Order: sequence, then structure tokens, then C-alpha cells
Amino acid sequence: MEERMENTINVEEIFAQNVFTMAKMQQRLSKKVFSAVQNIYDNGGKLTKEEADEVAHAMKNWAVENGATHYTHWFQPLNGTTAEKHDSFLLPSEEEGKTVMTFSGRDLLQSEPDASSFPSGGIRSTFEARGYTAWDITSPAFLKESGAGKILCIPTAFYSYTGEALDKKAPLLRSMEVIDEQTRRLLSLLGKKDIKKVTPQAGVEQEYFLVDSENYLRRSDLKFCGHTLFGAPAPKGQAMDDHYFGAIRERVGRFMRELNYELWKLGVPAKTQHNEAAPGQHELAPIYENANIALDHNQLVMETMKRVAENHDLRCLLHEKPYEGVNGSGKHNNWSLSTNTGENLLDPGKSPEKNIEFLLILSCVLKAVDTHADLLRQSTADPGNDLRLGGYEAPPAILSVFLGTQLEDVMRQLIETGTANRHLEGGVLRTGVSALLDIDRDTTDRNRTSPFAFTGNKFEFRMVGSSDSIGEPMTVINAIVAEAFSDAADRLEKAKDIEIEVHDIIKENFTKHQRIVFNGNGYSREWVEEAHRRGLPELKTMAQAAGALTKPESIAMYEKFGIYSKEELVSREEILYDTYSKSVHVDAKTMIDMAGRQIIPACMQYEKELAKTVLALREVGEVVNTEAARLKEVAGHIEDAQSALNRLVQDCEKGENITNSRERAFFYQDVIKPDMQAVRTPCDELEKLVDKRMWPFPTYEELMFEV
Ligand code: ADP
Ligand code: MG
Repeated sequence: MEERMENTINVEEIFAQNVFTMAKMQQRLSKKVFSAVQNIYDNGGKLTKEEADEVAHAMKNWAVENGATHYTHWFQPLNGTTAEKHDSFLLPSEEEGKTVMTFSGRDLLQSEPDASSFPSGGIRSTFEARGYTAWDITSPAFLKESGAGKILCIPTAFYSYTGEALDKKAPLLRSMEVIDEQTRRLLSLLGKKDIKKVTPQAGVEQEYFLVDSENYLRRSDLKFCGHTLFGAPAPKGQAMDDHYFGAIRERVGRFMRELNYELWKLGVPAKTQHNEAAPGQHELAPIYENANIALDHNQLVMETMKRVAENHDLRCLLHEKPYEGVNGSGKHNNWSLSTNTGENLLDPGKSPEKNIEFLLILSCVLKAVDTHADLLRQSTADPGNDLRLGGYEAPPAILSVFLGTQLEDVMRQLIETGTANRHLEGGVLRTGVSALLDIDRDTTDRNRTSPFAFTGNKFEFRMVGSSDSIGEPMTVINAIVAEAFSDAADRLEKAKDIEIEVHDIIKENFTKHQRIVFNGNGYSREWVEEAHRRGLPELKTMAQAAGALTKPESIAMYEKFGIYSKEELVSREEILYDTYSKSVHVDAKTMIDMAGRQIIPACMQYEKELAKTVLALREVGEVVNTEAARLKEVAGHIEDAQSALNRLVQDCEKGENITNSRERAFFYQDVIKPDMQAVRTPCDELEKLVDKRMWPFPTYEELMFEV
């Protein structure tokens, strides 16, 4: 590591060293072109060909001066990761045997990767492969350093030949424009006419596991599926609660240091790091940023985690549920709305009951979440998250909003009397130790079990899975809140008395949508029952949630604001079913391989040893009760495992032959998943019985405690 990194890090010096920032553009561009760039950054629009050429030239010079050889349009296809195809800047020069480094405005603005190899849900067939990437000027270009050298990455959005978005970025950018417009419309009706721009902010807490490389490589399930398919619980799990915020171990500490260093160079404002609840689990949170930049940065965080881990003989697991029986990993999406004047519109101020603007916004958020709970849930659907949501460690698959005592009290007053004129105070917490200062208590305690929690001046959407892109969740939140703002603005535009109408809307939103507010323990069984009584939807699985995309209300909302077309929604639903089936299929195939070629043979070997022991003991006239009983138990589990395995093999063949993608997804959910559980159970029992030295791969003990 010492070769890669100085011992002391001068953060101010290295921060954004690998980013082509606005400041660097200003230094390198003519005044005229820089102001064109700035204008597009602030207000949207297009660069002329000449302007683009100048920007491209400056960007290339900066990149080459810093050692770059290639550039790429960096984009975020619908498989949730990032994609890049490197092109070198090379152009043969007129002078024989020489070359020049070039990069034109056209190279910068657009590129044409083969769209046929990325998921498109039927929008593209392989013979019409054209797809285009277009530069997202609001997210800066950066240099990525890896084994491939330094690559100039240009953040882009990805479209099909016919203009449909094929990525997670384009809809987010569209939703950001929509919420900007609708928020300004609403504020202006409330008399605030000077706001020029409203930008959604996102702060993304990323949870992950680290595992020793050697152990990882010996487990096909980790290599192919990113999570374990077998594993009896280790003697110690997270029951002692001694890992959360615990002292960070040396190797992990070195990993975190290099990770921060790499992220800071990329301009990612990595801020906090700590151990999480499960052994081997950790978290990184950056400072919040504009939602589209936070999206790019979170992708870089995930990529960099994986890359840096390998430098320390570690592997980083981003899967939502690497191990059964201990906590899984999520990605809390913190969301707020910020104005160009620096105001956070979700800040209630000192007296929220008098802050009409805040109450209107808050009541609209409640309306949005209640009306489109299924879409929000859907935006967090991925195969790994199915194993996490509702597992009594993560928010259940039911949307509810935590407001905290103070705001809930304000809401109740408004519902009951139409006015609110008092607020509960936080007060002071006496520490009882004279050397410690008393602590100013927050007005509300934290609630860690709510999927959508108001946390002081932002909402924290906690349902999102650790490996997922934040593109979709952020798009949904922007869209549904924009819709609620737009409904309110429609009414205010027609109102005779704005003040009375605002009060009416707030009261109505709170009254109609109070069922979504829940301040209690979201992990409890009682809440699930209560939620059902309230009529809140519970979409337990990815396959069940996918249909939310194409409900008439969803299509109407998205089309009204031009965020997704019906065709894009239909194709995205299709992709979800397909992704789910493929992912479970890979899991099943891996399971078949591990059980059939590793576990069962190893257990048979042990069985043979036991049989030999029984025979030998009998021969010398010893009592063999214990040995014979163990032999019988092992033999019984082997038989169960083998017959479950046979069924899984047969059902997988059936699954592959189902042509309708929705039907296939439900088959994988309802048939293959239970089949897999039936294989796992006897195998985990065998792990508890078989001689440890004969077990064919590292167990939970090694995976979780050898980091
Ligand atoms: P925790 O949820 O663990 O208590 P914090 O309160 O420190 O953590 O914040 C978590 C994340 O929320 C951080 O990424 C932080 O930058 C982000 N955050 C803080 N304020 C805002 C805001 N106004 N809008 C969006 N994200 C925010
Ligand atoms: Mg959090």
C-alpha cells in the first residue's frame, strides 16, 4: 500500500485531484465558452459544435497531462452497474511513425455503444443495436485509475435509437427537472418568487461486508452469486452486539484509509466510516450532494470498494444478504430539497407549527408516499433485497413514514382542530456527571426501524438494498413528490384566498394520508398486522413489486411529467422479471454444483469413515451405539439432500422452458426458491455433524471472523 499512498494524507491537496472541476474548466476555457458551460449547468441547453470542440480539447489536455491514455463514456445501464468501453486518444499523425492525441467535441457529446448487449426489456432487439450515450454536463468528468491505467470518464446518459432511456441516469435527470419546476411553482404561489433553482440532495450511506480473499475464492457461491447459499450459523453471530461501532481492525483500517484516499481524489466526499452490526460488516457515508452526482459517486464508491479490497487480500461483498442469520446490508438514501439560495426546504425551523411552507411540503410528501407506496417499494426491488426486507433486521416490505413525536403532534393538532399552535420541546438531557456537558436533546428520538423516516431536516429512505443503484429510488421520490406539489399548485392557482386554501390542503393531506404515519417499531409482527388493517400494501418480493411500474396511476403520473413513457415502464417491468429469474437461476445452478460435487461427496467420505469405524468396533466386540447413531443421522441427511437436489435439477429445467417472463419469475420465486431451501437445510445439518477437516469449503466462522 505504501507505494500507492503517502503515509500522511493531505486531504485538501488531493481532493478532486482526478476531477475536471468547474474551476479547472474556468482556467482552461475561454471566458465565452466557460460561461456557455456554466449556463447549461445552471439552466440546461446545448453547446454549439465549436464550443464543444473547445471543451473537449481542454478536457483531453488536462487528462493527458495527468497520464490518461483513453477516454470512455461512462454510463449506468439497467443491470444496476456501470459500463465503459475505452477508446484511446490516438490518431495516426501525418508524420510517418508518429501519433497525436485527439478528442473532438463530437467524441465528448455523444458516443454509440452497442445497445444490444444491455438489458432493454424488448425495446431493442439484437439486430437493431444502436444506442447513444450523451454527456451529462452537470456531473464532472473524472480520471479513473486502475490496472488499465488512467481513463478519462465522461458521465453520460444512455438512450436507444428511438429515444427511450436505457439507463438509470436519464430518468433521474428528468425527474430532477420536474421537481425543480413544480417546487418553484408552489413556492412562487406562496409568495417566494426569487428562487431560481431547486435541486434534490442525496446522501447515501453504503453498507458492505469484507471477507478474506482466500476464503472467498474457495466458495463458488460467493464468487458467482455474491452471497452464501449454504452455511450453518457460527458459534458467535452478532448476538453480543460487540461489532457495531467497535474498534476497527488493522487490515480493515488500512483498507478504509486507501478507500478514502481513492475516493477523495475522485471528489467523493467520503465522511464517516464505522463497523456495522454484523461481524465483518462496515459502513461508509459521504456528505450529501446533488442527487445525480450522488448517484455517480455511489457507483464509484461501490466500484472502488471492490477494487481497493483486493489490494488488501480482501473481497468486498455488496450483496444485501451475504450470510443467513446475521444482518444484511442496506443503502440508506437521505433526501432533501435545496434551493439555489442555500435553503433546505425540509428544515422545519424552530416552530414547525407556524411554518406553513414546511407543513405544506411535509403534507405533500405524506400524500406522495401513501399514494405511490408500491412504486417506492418497487424501486428497491432486487433479488438480494428479497432476502433482507421483512427479515426483522431491515424495514419490512411495507412503506410507512416516521415523523417523530413533535411533528406527529403538530399533524394531530391540524387534523383535529385545523390549527396547530404548540410544539413539544426537546429539552436538555442531564448527563449526571459534572465533568460532562449536558447534551441538547433532539426533539425526536431516532427510529431505526422505519423505511421512510423524517430525520430532522431530510427523509431517510432505508429500504434500498446495498448493491442497488440509487437512480430509481431517487427518481421515484422526486416524481411522486413533484406530483403532490403539482396537485397543490393547481388548487392554489384557482383559489380565491390562498391562505385559506393552503390550510385546507395541509389539513386534507394530513387527514387523508395519516395512515402512512407510523412511529413505532417497524420490525415487529404487530406492525405488519396493523399495516394490513390500515390497508397499506405489502409487496414481499421483487416479482410481486414489479407490476407497480405499469399500474395505470403510475403510467399516468410518469407520462404527465415526461419522466418515463409507457413503453419504458413496460420494458423496465420486463427487465425486472428477467433479472430475477436469471439471478435465482445462477444461484440454483451454483447450489447444484456445490451440493452435488462438494458437499455430498465430502459427506459420503465421512459416512464411509463412520461405517468403517462401526465395523471395526463390532469386530472387536465393542458397543457401537453412538457411532451407529451418527452414521444413521448422516446417511439420512445425505439422502434428503440428494433427493432435494434431484428435484431442484428437474425444476430448473422446467423453469428455463417457461417463455413468459412474468410467469417464469413467479416460478423461480414459488418453486425454485423453496426447492433451494430444501437442499440447504440437510446440507447445513450435515455441516454441524461432519468432521470439520473434511468440510469442502470455509464456513461462516472463517468467512465472518477472519477479516
Ligand atoms: P445516520 O443516518 O447514521 O444517523 P447522518 O445523520 O450522519 O447518519 O447522515 C447520514 C447521511 O445523510 C449522510 O450521508 C449525510 O450527508 C446525509 N445528509 C445530511 N443532511 C442531508 C440533507 N439535508 N439532505 C440529504 N442528505 C443529507
Ligand atoms: Mg441512516
